[in-house]
Amino acid sequence: MSRASRAIIDLAALKRNCALAAQLCPTANILAVIKANAYGHGAVQVALTLEPSVQAFGVARIEEALTLRGCGVGRPILLLEGAFDADEVMIAAGQDFWLMVENASQVQAITEAPLQSIHASRGLRVWLKVDTGMHRLGFQPQDVYGAYEQLKQSRNVQGDIVICTHFACAELLNQDTTEVQFGKFNSLIRPLNVPSSLANSAAVLAWPQTHGDWIRPGLMLYGASPFEAPHDLATQLHPVMTLQSAVISTRRIATGERVGYGGAWCAERTSNIATVAIGYGDGYPRGAKNGTPVVVNGQVAPLAGRVSMDMITVDVTDLEGITVGNRAELWGNTVSVSEVARYAGTNAYELLARMPQRVVRRYVH
Ligand SMILES: *Cc1c(COP(=O)(O)O)cnc(C)c1O
Repeated sequence: MSRASRAIIDLAALKRNCALAAQLCPTANILAVIKANAYGHGAVQVALTLEPSVQAFGVARIEEALTLRGCGVGRPILLLEGAFDADEVMIAAGQDFWLMVENASQVQAITEAPLQSIHASRGLRVWLKVDTGMHRLGFQPQDVYGAYEQLKQSRNVQGDIVICTHFACAELLNQDTTEVQFGKFNSLIRPLNVPSSLANSAAVLAWPQTHGDWIRPGLMLYGASPFEAPHDLATQLHPVMTLQSAVISTRRIATGERVGYGGAWCAERTSNIATVAIGYGDGYPRGAKNGTPVVVNGQVAPLAGRVSMDMITVDVTDLEGITVGNRAELWGNTVSVSEVARYAGTNAYELLARMPQRVVRRYVH
């Protein structure tokens, strides 16, 4: 099997990023968000690495949580969108999955679940989600107390109910949306003596007043910045994934010749082109434009021409002695995944989350 393209996953960097979150929020519990295969890094490996340093994990789908349990992850796992039906409620109760509750039918499914049929079930831990302005999930503020009381009084619900909300714009530092959401949330929970959770990565880094009792970092754990602009604390993050491949062919082309599908790049001088064995089938974005930086043999060179399914072409005219077998680095410490994302018109979240299975992950400690 060809191992030309692979993702090196630096688990020491992962731990350091998590330690930064802990240091910024010394009194908060950490719920590490590992949905979408831990943003492409491999959820099981990430969970087993972080398990000693965090109090819980968060995923989007019950299948993700079951995989983690099956691989020996013992910490509580919060289903961030809750159970989608009554069967999932029963599975959650048996597996110590925590449930987000964000609508009335989820309250009903929990309060009516026949949990007594599960041997040794201690009931469900639930998080109650409030819609403070993102308008995607959660109870409207006026419906929160009613839902809270119903859950609180249910024998199926055990322990504290965490009240939480999600920010729509925490990565935008010069607008007041986050403060408006925070204000709504605070006036709502003040009368309740309950643990709170609000902060995603951007809020962990930039909105300390919102840290509350449980932080929910995702992207920052993987060493990418949620911010467009440079940010002091974000510069302390260490990229966890390095996406690598190798040069598999080189050629010299004349001025005026074009490269790749659609002839999207034209040589303005006699040019050396290196073909690297990675493409959109390996998670490198097809939208990456001419000029996207690619590290070839340790030096940065511009992408030249369209990204193919399994290959890209790079203008290495200004580099010395590029030959077949040279290492290429698509993102990592030299060129960040966020920078590649900018050239491709997307963000680091998308590039990481959609890394396909076919890319071999190699874990280093
Ligand atoms: C994905 C997610 C997070 C993590 O967000 P980041 O921006 O990656 O830190 C936190 N909370 C909820 C509810 C999420 O869905």
